[in-house]
Amino acid sequence: MEGKVRGILIGRMQPIHKGHIQVIKKILEEVDEIIIGIGSAQLSHELKDPFTAGERVVMVTQALAEENIDPSKYYIIPMEDINFNAIWTAHVKMMTPPFSIVYSGNSLVKQLFSEEGYTVKNPPLYDRVHLSGTEVRKRILEDGNWQELVASSTIDIMDEINGVERIKNLSVKEISEL
Ligand code: NAD
Repeated sequence: MEGKVRGILIGRMQPIHKGHIQVIKKILEEVDEIIIGIGSAQLSHELKDPFTAGERVVMVTQALAEENIDPSKYYIIPMEDINFNAIWTAHVKMMTPPFSIVYSGNSLVKQLFSEEGYTVKNPPLYDRVHLSGTEVRKRILEDGNWQELVASSTIDIMDEINGVERIKNLSVKEISEL
């Protein structure tokens, strides 16, 4: 454990897509181990956050296995949101192995960790126009080609959990509640 350089990437991964996978691979070129925080772990069954933390853990694990990434190189840790931004970094620290570098494109995440003295890096964004959870969920709703944006194991898991049907049902429910 001593002497290992660890980085952390926190994302909602709703669902994990090819942009997340590429950035994880890139970070692993720079650090010995990566902590992948599954953000907003308490949320599921909402249009913006359809999948449970457990489902997301399986999606991430299998997507990384598909890429032949050594499982001893990463930790996948679900992390619930807390009400107080000012102490969120302490909450993250409590839930994870020690880390020294924070990778994020999220401005609030970057702000909070740099105030605590962490090294914060902005990882490259890959084809952000298409590679985003929002785009995956939008294409699912529109019967578009969402499959090309995710790993093939994610397509299989979506099948197992009836993920497409879930998202479509959630959209009907939310419209009827307007
Ligand atoms: P996200 O899944 O949208 O993105 C996570 C990261 O993945 C990004 O920062 C970016 O670095 C990378 N990424 C995404 N698309 C990419 C692409 N195409 N190419 C390369 N990299 C890409 O997740 P997010 O919404 O930024 O997650 C932040 C989490 O932190 C949320 O769950 C949020 O609730 C949580 N948070 C909680 C608190 C609190 O509880 N008080 C405070 C701050 C943040």
